[in-house]
Amino acid sequence: MEKEKFLLHTCCAPCGIAVIDELRKKFDLTVLFYNPNIFPEEEYLKRKAEVVRVCSEWEVKMIDQDYNPAEWDEKVQGLEKEREGGMRCGVCIKMRLFHAGEIAKENGFEIFGTTLTMGRQKTAKVISPIGEMVAEHFGLKYLAEDWKKGGRQETARELIKQKNIYQQNYCGCKYSLAAKKEE
Ligand code: SF4
Repeated sequence: MEKEKFLLHTCCAPCGIAVIDELRKKFDLTVLFYNPNIFPEEEYLKRKAEVVRVCSEWEVKMIDQDYNPAEWDEKVQGLEKEREGGMRCGVCIKMRLFHAGEIAKENGFEIFGTTLTMGRQKTAKVISPIGEMVAEHFGLKYLAEDWKKGGRQETARELIKQKNIYQQNYCGCKYSLAAKKEE
């Protein structure tokens, strides 16, 4: 039986590795790297390189989108002082999931999802309604999964160790980096 075409928005290898491993066995999987929030560019390239490495080792298809931080800056204008988990994150997540939906629609995917719910400070309660709204807009299905559950965190830890994956210590944007430095 033919597997469904699944587009997985992936924020980074530590959040993505267990999810990619699980979904590549169930779906005709393609990973999408679209994360204009990541700052600075050097960090963006480092995170992307790890996702590329995982996909190439497992022979998973990958769509690598352009790095457009100026567009992201514009979207979050006025929300610079928001704490992590606040309104800026809602805009940031919506921007990335909307783009994932657009790419999924344009390329004949039936279903899409994101690795974002694996993030420590990211909740499925906030992310899933955004994914479902995007899915409805584009006439797609969205896999509303809390990747922190079901032993996936443990699997991720094992795979990260096994593959010696780079692990960042901040969410991604310049504001989360500044907050981390202040801690
Ligand atoms: S803290 Fe993370 S989710 Fe929130 S705006 Fe920054 S990069 Fe996006």
